[in-house]
Amino acid sequence: MKFETSIRRPVAVSGVGLHHGAPVNLRIVPAPAATGIVFIRTDLKRFEIPASWQCVERVAYATSLMRRGVLISTTEHLLSVLYSMGIDNAYIELDNLEVPIVDGSGAPFVELLREAGIQTYRRPRRYLRILRPVTVEAEGKSVSIVPANRFELQCNIFFDHPLVGEQSLDTAVTPEAYANEIAPARTFGFERELDQMRDMGLIRGATLENAVCFTPRSVANAGGLRFPDECCRHKALDLIGDLALIGRPLLGRVVAEKAGHKMHAALVNMIMSDPTIYDIVTWERAQSVARPKPQLQRVMAG
Ligand SMILES: [Zn+2]
Repeated sequence: MKFETSIRRPVAVSGVGLHHGAPVNLRIVPAPAATGIVFIRTDLKRFEIPASWQCVERVAYATSLMRRGVLISTTEHLLSVLYSMGIDNAYIELDNLEVPIVDGSGAPFVELLREAGIQTYRRPRRYLRILRPVTVEAEGKSVSIVPANRFELQCNIFFDHPLVGEQSLDTAVTPEAYANEIAPARTFGFERELDQMRDMGLIRGATLENAVCFTPRSVANAGGLRFPDECCRHKALDLIGDLALIGRPLLGRVVAEKAGHKMHAALVNMIMSDPTIYDIVTWERAQSVARPKPQLQRVMAG
């Protein structure tokens, strides 16, 4: 896609938040070019919070954004869908503090966008192109990004469970691949951890209709899994949702090893805090060969 987009008409969905469990009405509304994605708390005098890495507040179990004390919780699934489906500009109106979890996956949001349609503006899209590799790592987990002329993703996970174990996914993130292979994957949890999470005030809205629950040897959900590697696909969904906070379409290959929201946020911070890691290019420029920028000279000669 060479030009910026928005949706064609407003669409709405209602539900509960996964962690706070509060009811919420959400509406996605067309926005002009150069707006980006902006959350609006309609219950708080239409207070606006841009979907930006600069507003990240909390990264434990879900990603939350905050500006001047106003919170939007669990942004990653909806942002993942908007980013992957190529929507550059939209207002997301909510009348509570958490995005509805719907069925725990991105599929209902993909359906909403299909209902809304896409409009293309005349303003050329500006991509964030990665110029040199960067890695964040800790405790055997890591996430890296390397130059590539499209947005690609490799996600590797390990969970000690007979239905999970080691899983891996490698894909180019196109709207088609995303809608079919990643969006339907649901959020998941392990029965053994539920009490602890509830004690932390989390997953108050979780049910078997909006999350996969792994019992010691199986899953508690009547329909079973949607994919044998549904966990890995969902981790890819989450990763894209956190990368979306870059605020521009990405040209680079991301490789994640057992990474979570905290590490995704650290990578985004590392990229955005160092302008020698990326440049901002139109689609045409992106097709030419990227050249690394010279490193900033931090030590003066003499
Ligand atoms: Zn998730």
